[in-house]
Amino acid sequence: MTDTAEIIDVSPRDGLQNEATLLSTDTKVELITRLAVAGVKKLEATSFVHPDAVPAMADAEQVMASVPRDRGVSYIGLVLNRRGLERAIAAGCDEVNYAVVVTDTFSQRNQGTTSDEGIDVWKDIARGARAAGIRPSLVVSTAFGCPFEGEVPVGRVVEVVEACLEEPPDRLSLADTIGVAVPTDVTERFEAVMPSIPEAVQLGTHFHNTRGTGLANVVAALDMGIRSFDASLGGLGGCPFAPNATGNIVTEDLAYLLGRMGIDTGLDLEALASTAEWIKQDLPDSVVGLYHRAGPFP
Ligand code: ZN
Repeated sequence: MTDTAEIIDVSPRDGLQNEATLLSTDTKVELITRLAVAGVKKLEATSFVHPDAVPAMADAEQVMASVPRDRGVSYIGLVLNRRGLERAIAAGCDEVNYAVVVTDTFSQRNQGTTSDEGIDVWKDIARGARAAGIRPSLVVSTAFGCPFEGEVPVGRVVEVVEACLEEPPDRLSLADTIGVAVPTDVTERFEAVMPSIPEAVQLGTHFHNTRGTGLANVVAALDMGIRSFDASLGGLGGCPFAPNATGNIVTEDLAYLLGRMGIDTGLDLEALASTAEWIKQDLPDSVVGLYHRAGPFP
């Protein structure tokens, strides 16, 4: 039996939302199409947040109206409230992601609720999504550290996860929103939450590579049995509400790592690398991945 893992590309959302350069809707759709051609089966296409808060995502509906539907891709929309959920449903998303934040300061700045209020919003969104026949997933943000409050107690992460599990998500990802985690943190935090996670809930990670520890953290998660990883083409990204956060771990670098470890991702590395080169024309300073420059193992 081959070992497999899924890479969820989040570059069209987490990658582009922080870019000073606003890409056209056509360029976003081409990015998504190229990712689909490269074999990406799940991707975070956009977010349904207020355009004043995140101007780069103002064309969420237009993007979703033009994404390719013939490649078996599951399209995820990020939503932070009921209004966003309704927009994502109307736009034809297959899945919605909600981010619950474990620290109050970040939660207030990112989405205008306390952490506990965010748990209630999650439950409402999960119920609404299921009623509409789409999958709700949950990202547990600042699970490894907060830009405003610093260290985040493991116990608080467990408390938030357990409260959210009253409405179990399809997938639950622990997010290192600001890229402070190291592999021992990954082991510690997944060990702490795993006993509470029902079998039907897939576990995943959302790592940023702000301090160069992202792929090492993936290896720690692999050792814990996790096989779902968010990543961003070229390492695009950051967070408009997290000072100095840089991009997600790099989709093509991660696909290389997993492939050489004998774990099949179904991704075409050369197609990813050429897409990284292509998006570099618009975002020359933001593509930080290494694989697209180095190329395959000769
Ligand atoms: Zn992120």
